[in-house]
This record gives sequence, structure tokens and C-alpha cells, in this order.
Amino acid sequence: MQDTVLIVEDEPDAVDLLRYNLERADFDVLVAMTGDRGLAVARESRPDIVILDLMLPGMDGHEVCRAMKGDTGTEAIPVIMLTARSEPGQRVKGLEIGADDYVTKPFSPRELVLRVRAVLRRHRTMPRSEIVSFDGLTLDRTKFEARLDGERIELTATEFKLMCVFVERRGRTLTRETLLRDVWGYQTSTLDTRTVDTHVRRLRDKLGTCSARLETVRGEGYRFAAEASP
Ligand code: CA
Repeated sequence: MQDTVLIVEDEPDAVDLLRYNLERADFDVLVAMTGDRGLAVARESRPDIVILDLMLPGMDGHEVCRAMKGDTGTEAIPVIMLTARSEPGQRVKGLEIGADDYVTKPFSPRELVLRVRAVLRRHRTMPRSEIVSFDGLTLDRTKFEARLDGERIELTATEFKLMCVFVERRGRTLTRETLLRDVWGYQTSTLDTRTVDTHVRRLRDKLGTCSARLETVRGEGYRFAAEASP
């Protein structure tokens, strides 16, 4: 079965370029020209992947992505954000709200097709499951058990949840606010963001050889490195 790509983009020339190259690469293509329509099509048609332009009339790409990732029907669909802006801030924001990759316009259609394939491949080899495993680290959600190179690490429930979020979103910078929301469940910062710092520090103390991966990103938050530092 062919994979279906949903293109959410309001510029006809960009749509034509994407459609032509994706169809030539054997993808089925759906198109939505507004953010609202894109979200509706994603919910109805459950495409395999979405190419989502940031600048859209009505709901913009970030809003669509956030809505998709907050809906159990669409949260598992990978998203590649497309934008004319190249500021790193936009990239961080896009990745933080759950986009899987980010491509800056003007893009090479060939490269974009390769990125689509790469994201699909990565997505399929990393399904969300009860056991999160990465580079010697295993987190078993059914038993709330963490192991590093087979050795049990004693974590509190909060530390365990924090660790799961870091490992699942490895390579992405997560702000303290995001962590408070996703780990502690606070919509607004009713808890001091220093709570996050305290927990990250305790987590580092318990992670042994793995602790260096839990990086502080100055002025932004924290990131669990996807690759070991040299
Ligand atoms: Ca646009």
C-alpha cells in the first residue's frame, strides 16, 4: 500500500511542486489549503505523514500541529513543518510542539522527499510502546522500572515520568514550562519552574554514565542528547 502524504499549504505553486515530486516518488497525495481544513483532513483521512506549512490563513502551522498532537486520533501522525523563516527560534518552537522535522523554504523537492521517507522510517521503528528503550536505558511503563545497562535505577514516580518524556523526545529542547505541563500536568506555571531544576538534578545524580546526556540548554530548558557527546 502506498503511503499517503497530506500537504497543508496555501500557495498553489508550492502545492504543485510538492504534489508532483511526491506522486513521482509513489506517494498518494492529499491537499488542504488552510490550517482548519488540514486539521479536518488529518482527522478524517489519517494520512501517514503531514507536510505542514507554517504560514497559513486562519490557523497557522503551529496551531495545527499542536491540535494534531493533542488529539488521540492524530497524535501519532508525523509532521514535517515547512517555513520561509529560518530563525532558530521557529525551529525550536516547531519541534517542541511535536513536529518531527523542519524544512526551510526554498527547499529542494528531492531533499524533501528524502526527509519524508526518513521521518516515516524513523517513525515506524520507534512506535510508542510500554517499553521505551534507548542506548542501554530501558524504561518499562507497566512496572515503572528503569534500567541502565541492565542495572536497576531507583526513580520516584515523577523522576520516572520525567525520564520517559526526555527519552521519547530526545534531541529536542524542552522548556521548563513544557516539562511542568507534560510531567506535572500543570496548564500554567503554578509551580515554580525551579521544581524542574531540582528534579533534573536528582535525575542526573541517579543516571551515572548517562547523566551527561541530560543537557542544560541555556535560556531554553533541557535536552536529552540523541547522540553521545564526543
Ligand atoms: Ca504558506
